[in-house]
Amino acid sequence: MAARGATFFERREGAARAPLASGYLPRRPEKTVLHQVVCEHLATLLSESRQEDGGGLPGFVEREFRRYLTCGSLAQGFVRVRCGRCGEETLVGLSCKRRGFCPSCIGRKMADTAAHLVDRVLPWAPYRQWVVSLPFRLRLRLARSEEFLGAVRRLFMAAVKAWQRRQARALGFKEARTGAVCFTQRFDSLLRTNPHFHAMVPDAVFVEEGEGRVGLVVLPKPRQEDVEWVAARLVRSAQPLLAKLEPEDGPPDALDRLRLAQLDLLPPSPVQEAPPGRLTVRLAGFSLQAATHLHGNDRAGLEALCRYALRPPVPLSRLSQRPDGKLELRLKRPLPGGKTRLTLEPMTLMRRLAGLVPRPRVHQLHYFGVLASHAGLRPSVTPHSSRKASGVCRREPLAQRKLPLVQRPAWSEPRVGELEPLLKAPSPRARTLDWRTLLARTFGDQIHTCRKCGGPLEVVAYVTEPEKAVQLLEELGITPYQPRLARARAPPQQQLFEPSPGFAADPLYPDD
Ligand SMILES: [Zn+2]
Ligand SMILES: [Zn+2]
Repeated sequence: MAARGATFFERREGAARAPLASGYLPRRPEKTVLHQVVCEHLATLLSESRQEDGGGLPGFVEREFRRYLTCGSLAQGFVRVRCGRCGEETLVGLSCKRRGFCPSCIGRKMADTAAHLVDRVLPWAPYRQWVVSLPFRLRLRLARSEEFLGAVRRLFMAAVKAWQRRQARALGFKEARTGAVCFTQRFDSLLRTNPHFHAMVPDAVFVEEGEGRVGLVVLPKPRQEDVEWVAARLVRSAQPLLAKLEPEDGPPDALDRLRLAQLDLLPPSPVQEAPPGRLTVRLAGFSLQAATHLHGNDRAGLEALCRYALRPPVPLSRLSQRPDGKLELRLKRPLPGGKTRLTLEPMTLMRRLAGLVPRPRVHQLHYFGVLASHAGLRPSVTPHSSRKASGVCRREPLAQRKLPLVQRPAWSEPRVGELEPLLKAPSPRARTLDWRTLLARTFGDQIHTCRKCGGPLEVVAYVTEPEKAVQLLEELGITPYQPRLARARAPPQQQLFEPSPGFAADPLYPDD
């Protein structure tokens, strides 16, 4: 195997440059609508925000766009894989690993994180998804302040915890412990900046029984008044904090301006939010929903819900370009007026994407209570203790790990101590699934296996240095794709008098 940090590796000498089968066609990430829109409008977005605001967009936003354009491009580096059965070889481009909007990188991270949570973190228990969205007028402020956003998230989780402990006390458990994971999603289905939280909370609490044993107490299903209680507690505790957020904290920068413009585009009604009732409460601009519930055995459902909370903002499969150049996003759920499609100017999409890019080193996932990384009880409640993890990447089918937890008819009886052996049940696996397992888990069996015969793929060579990659591609007779940005366009009124500029020869990395 190659040394750590090597930029070039061949399983056998010459494996990277051996001729590919005739008729081989590499995957073309640059053919997607999103890629083309970014190529064509990035320069315009950058110059537009520079004109409005001397500084322009923050560096991390610009980098996000530029790296995205290289994602999957063979010219940046590639992996050569070979089918173990029929011998067919293909090249796979390296990914950008960005977290802002790249559909394939976020899609992969989504699958990996959701699998990790279900296999290694979330205890076997029935679950409830608690979703809270924030007052419309504060969304922009919260989007620009991770500190305040984090404070609201903690207050939200504290309100749910307080309610759970109250329920447990009513059942006779004074020392009950709670745990949850909370996802921060920064957009809504219309791709607007809309920071909100999805928390996966066991409908249960944990009680210590001595000798390191932990029992699970399943709580009664919340009623409408319980959700109202949680919402009231959240609003009461958040108000002093949000009052501090109200005054202007400095003039808006280029990113704020983009986000502000999105808020103006659509009516200030939270269009996608569920109506009150059915475990949904609106209070002081907050909206709290707790209707989504999963049975204790529904681990696949739990994984799907985690994936939903981690999903990429722009689903490539639902974005298309019309002949008139406008973009169309098919919505998963129709808007209140019955509209099922959102029509966008390409520049509107660009501005919205810019508004969604998280600051560097900001986390999307937070652990609370017994699931916090430092919590003493964590190893006793997670499905598999990380201390015992072996390096094994194989994963048993879900059916084999089915929790023999019987659905109890009565909620009133506390059940303690019966789940201890079950909490330890699942199979060990390494922190990151190998990509084949991961793709299989996400997309089914077709993608990780050979397209021709379904055989298993193995890596025969890789190169991660662009210069070397381009040289190898030329030897293989593949024209390497290099993204080129179109020139910045003039504002619309000027454009009337000027011919529309096409792709110009501006290199992607003039100064990188
Ligand atoms: Zn094959
Ligand atoms: Zn990517």
